[in-house]
Amino acid sequence: MRLNIQFSISVTLFLFCVTFSNSQEKTENSPNIIIFLIDDIGLMDTSVPFLTNANGDLINYPLNDYYITPNMEKLAEQGIRFTNFYAHSVCSPSRTSIMTGQNSARHRVTNWIKSEDNNRTEFGPAQWNWNGLSKVSITLPRLLQQKGYKTIHVGKAHFGPFNSEGEDPLNLGFDVNIAGSSIGQPGSYLGTESFGHDGGNLTRAVPGLEKYHGQDIFLTEALTLEANLAISEAKEEGKPFFLNMSHYAVHAPFYSDARFKDHYINSGKSENAQAYATLIEGMDKSLGDLMQHVKNLGLGENTLILFLGDNGSDAPLPNENDYSSSSPLKGKKGNHWEGGMRVPFIAAWVTPNKKANLQKKLPIAQNAVQNQLGSILDIFPTLSHLTNITPPERYNLDGFDLHDQLSGKKNHERRVLFLNHFPHGNHRSNYFTSLVDADWKIIYHYQPKSQPRYELYDLKEDPFETNNLADKNPEQLKIMMAALSDEMNTKNALYPENGQEKFKLVIPR
Ligand code: CA
Repeated sequence: MRLNIQFSISVTLFLFCVTFSNSQEKTENSPNIIIFLIDDIGLMDTSVPFLTNANGDLINYPLNDYYITPNMEKLAEQGIRFTNFYAHSVCSPSRTSIMTGQNSARHRVTNWIKSEDNNRTEFGPAQWNWNGLSKVSITLPRLLQQKGYKTIHVGKAHFGPFNSEGEDPLNLGFDVNIAGSSIGQPGSYLGTESFGHDGGNLTRAVPGLEKYHGQDIFLTEALTLEANLAISEAKEEGKPFFLNMSHYAVHAPFYSDARFKDHYINSGKSENAQAYATLIEGMDKSLGDLMQHVKNLGLGENTLILFLGDNGSDAPLPNENDYSSSSPLKGKKGNHWEGGMRVPFIAAWVTPNKKANLQKKLPIAQNAVQNQLGSILDIFPTLSHLTNITPPERYNLDGFDLHDQLSGKKNHERRVLFLNHFPHGNHRSNYFTSLVDADWKIIYHYQPKSQPRYELYDLKEDPFETNNLADKNPEQLKIMMAALSDEMNTKNALYPENGQEKFKLVIPR
């Protein structure tokens, strides 16, 4: 009996020490993290130039002059922008990859998730993961939650369909869910329409936010106010926070944000394109407001912000020979070309200070440009290294720690490739797998009703994909097909199918 009492006192003391040292770690060694994720923002939907010439110098294109994003410009000045950053070509695959660090070919959320039913499409693989994430999924917020973080989701979730576990971010490791559900777009951006509950599209009404219903407020602004409140709460609780700031903007429907309407009225662009520009400027104001709030709370030096998009641009601009809203890149959201997958990425500390302890652990170059490839798959490994969290043993991560690249160096250890696997139809591009590997890119089209088709581009010489070399350079085609096949095998990818018949890769002879 006496032994037991002593034992339990020791255990209690031990637990107290562990708790005490953990909370010490929380306040001193744990950075706050903001993922600022904009739905459907492409590489060119900003006044910040992301494209370079062959020498790696930034080039300002006409679309950079059209959009107005001063807070993104400030963020790029105080941090580093990536000129070759890849996301999957549609929503849910990218969002799942950010949460899990796995390529969509591995986690099998290969298409966007439809709230009401299975979005498999005609020849899509029956086994694709149309239910999305679940209560047992290994996710970044779950691991951070276990580490003592307050984990906050704000805005679009789109991790699972209606009535699935993944529909609710609280099942995925978030302590707080503001306005996230299975929907992939808002029923309305207007408070006066109660964000879809009282006008707009009722089937896509944004959940929560009742206190703004009937008010003259834009959705982007309401989400920003709520995010700032949640950050303040985390500070009051003495916890580090992880904020997944996931705006519904700038996804369709393209409502005009009246605050910025006048800025585009003389642009000569269509009404839709002008409305789109106001959505862009609204999300930029949100970025500025959020950063200012973090600074006001005295948390700027301890807060890391990662700005990014989830797929290529969907801006309503005219399409000429497959060049449109990502111009000069070819294609847009959903496409197999670069415009479908290249997104803006900027990383910065909210208040840069090289002497701050946390920033010594992850130094971020200022006013810097990183031309080496990065991708959404790198966010999980980068943040887990920074926060000392470890995924379970044998968990497969497909990305790389961006530590060196954020400091402005090249990472000579990493692989500079990105696989995008889309074994589905009913989108701008159907049934394809693409692989970027260093300077080369291959696109494999399954074509269920005929022979497969190949596209091969030398991205260094031909960044805008004008010259398909598949027939002219059969040796390189074979090399790239071998690499693509290898990537698909290691990720245990699912192929398009017709009944029992699987459309396996056809390697050219
Ligand atoms: Ca999207």
